[in-house]
Amino acid sequence: MMPAAASHKPLQELRPMKDDTLLVTAGRDPKANFGIVNPPVYHASTVLAHTLAEWEARAEARKHGERGVFYGRYGTPTIFALEDAVAAIEGGYRGLVFPSGLAAISASLLAFLKTGDHVLMVDSVYGPARRVSDTLLKRFGVETSYYDPLVGAGLKALLRPSTRIVYVESPGSLTFEVQDIPQLADIAHAHGAIVMMDNTWASPLYFKPFEHGVDVAIQAATKYIVGHSDAMLGTVTASKAAWPVLEQTTRDLGQTAGPDDVYLAQRGIRTLSVRLRRHWETGLMLAEWLRARPEVECVMHPALPQDSGHALWKRDFLGASGLFGATLKPYRKEALAALVDGLTLYGMGASWGGYESLLLLTKPNGMRSAKPWPYAGPTLRIHAGLEDAGDLIADLKAGFDRLTKAA
Ligand SMILES: *Cc1c(COP(=O)(O)O)cnc(C)c1O
Repeated sequence: MMPAAASHKPLQELRPMKDDTLLVTAGRDPKANFGIVNPPVYHASTVLAHTLAEWEARAEARKHGERGVFYGRYGTPTIFALEDAVAAIEGGYRGLVFPSGLAAISASLLAFLKTGDHVLMVDSVYGPARRVSDTLLKRFGVETSYYDPLVGAGLKALLRPSTRIVYVESPGSLTFEVQDIPQLADIAHAHGAIVMMDNTWASPLYFKPFEHGVDVAIQAATKYIVGHSDAMLGTVTASKAAWPVLEQTTRDLGQTAGPDDVYLAQRGIRTLSVRLRRHWETGLMLAEWLRARPEVECVMHPALPQDSGHALWKRDFLGASGLFGATLKPYRKEALAALVDGLTLYGMGASWGGYESLLLLTKPNGMRSAKPWPYAGPTLRIHAGLEDAGDLIADLKAGFDRLTKAA
């Protein structure tokens, strides 16, 4: 007898439900768990077979990429529950869990590439993914070229016979350009390339990649899915066609994630919708406040009606998260230090997506090669947390007063 896979309901049964219901129900089945609301956390490497026939059936199942509880690295009900919850919300066929968002990105790239292939990567991609392309992939004979996030139909001219992946991230890291993903996907697919997307900004709730032509969707679950800055995780959801290649490579790379971190992500996902709505609302209030400030050159937030990506965002996205950018007029370093050093509610640190607000000074100009960043002044990346919006604005206002005084 085959060991039972995850005991929760299959994806097909969950699909007709609305997202808010899925977030609560996906990946858990209290009836199969003594009535306990949350799924158990399995710590496992060895999984015993009771008979030779069962042992051999497992080997056969693994050969065909079937899901089952065979060995810790192939997944446990704890891991399957998160994979299924993310896949159900993101709308793909099946999902996998990784120890970090970057691990999810690297494994996805490696899965679909071989020596001699070419990747078209968006210029506003998450920095460390750019590094993976320029170092690791290059070492294995894969060439990457970068394209303007607003390239549109111009993508066609950049495709080569060897182009295997068109990599998108929308809105872009640091600069928040919104990409026309259905258009890019049409062009990529006509050429025989797949579309891989970093969908972390919108989370699986606010952008449905598989309805817009994406084949492989990546989440840094470290951000909004975990949501409390206390675990590192990544997920990848694939279309049915892309699934077997992704699954096999992920197994070959030995990717898995620790059960306690996976549990934290499962717990985070239950409240994702209410948290995101608040991040969205507060982020937009901060963005509007910044737009009116004389120190600010430009605010990059696709939910602002004045933003150049607003129309596309409105067409394709279901909401906005709490991460956005603002470019300041040029200031001396001492003045910028006066702004950030005295902030009390905004932390200065990598990552985002937790309950707390963050503010970072970033330098997009050093990280662009397809299209130069047009602003001379420094850029802020702000994550609006769950604090009171009035308190957050007051803290920023005091910071801007210090900036002006030290200018
Ligand atoms: C943080 C981040 C990642 C990487 O996730 P880690 O879990 O930190 O490895 C990938 N993409 C985006 C857009 C991110 O913000």
